[in-house]
Amino acid sequence: MSAPKFTLENKTAVVTGASSGIGRAIAVAIAELGAAVGCVDLPGSDLEGVTAEIKNSGGRAAYFAADVTQPQDMINAVASIEQELGAISLAVNAAGIANAAPAEDMPLAQWQKVLDVDLTGVFLSCQAEGNAMLRNGGGSIVNIASMSATIANRGLLQAHYNTAKAGVVHLGKSLAWEWASRGIRVNSVSPGYTNTPMTKRPEQASAMAGYAQDTPLGRNAEPEDIAGPVAFLLSDAAAFVTGVDLLVDGGFVIW
Ligand code: NAP
Repeated sequence: MSAPKFTLENKTAVVTGASSGIGRAIAVAIAELGAAVGCVDLPGSDLEGVTAEIKNSGGRAAYFAADVTQPQDMINAVASIEQELGAISLAVNAAGIANAAPAEDMPLAQWQKVLDVDLTGVFLSCQAEGNAMLRNGGGSIVNIASMSATIANRGLLQAHYNTAKAGVVHLGKSLAWEWASRGIRVNSVSPGYTNTPMTKRPEQASAMAGYAQDTPLGRNAEPEDIAGPVAFLLSDAAAFVTGVDLLVDGGFVIW
């Protein structure tokens, strides 16, 4: 029996939300594991910085500015990545936003914006990546959901975000069966509270110390904590894993 294949060598990946936080840590980590990484994020974000970080460590990377809510942006990004780095077989969709408002007062525009970026943006990313992988003979997609797909976060007024993340988990299961017979695995990773710019928002920053105490492992996550489980799901070591939501939350949801 041979050892499980955790390597990502000779593969090309797309990572959305790659300029910041969790997406950035994943882009850097999977490049270290051998993948060539196409970094995607909004115009004006630090795409140059993350690409330079990967290249300075001896990895292969390129960057493309795109808005995940715009279908043609993602189609163009995938095409450009394939042109520059080769046919894609890996993708991580980490782009996302968060904010808060009481449900009874939440303006429709606020609800729709979060659903657009956090759910429709993941669908459009999967669609562009999935079409490329169907042409290329298969691949592995990991969507970054959240433990908010499983719990309603105590104290956080974010019905829109929680709903979008639950949608991301079920989208993953839906795509997993649609594409299974054609060689594409689709899973999600659901982080717990993670130290990134997103959790520095005023409504969350002050609560982070309390969340750490509420976590069985006694701390909040660093972005790097999320990268290992994502790399596992991307790799051939997870060849029989599809349609799964992997909680990476230090045990937060067990009590
Ligand atoms: P982050 O540091 O804010 O990173 C998110 C990235 O996505 C940013 O670079 C952001 O750009 C980009 N982005 C936003 N809208 C976009 C769009 N329309 N098109 C392309 N890129 C876009 O946040 P993070 O904490 O790393 O979050 C990464 C993912 O993990 C998100 O899906 C988030 O919901 C999820 N998550 C985070 C936590 C946590 O505690 N941090 C927990 C569970 C799940 P801008 O900065 O310009 O907006």
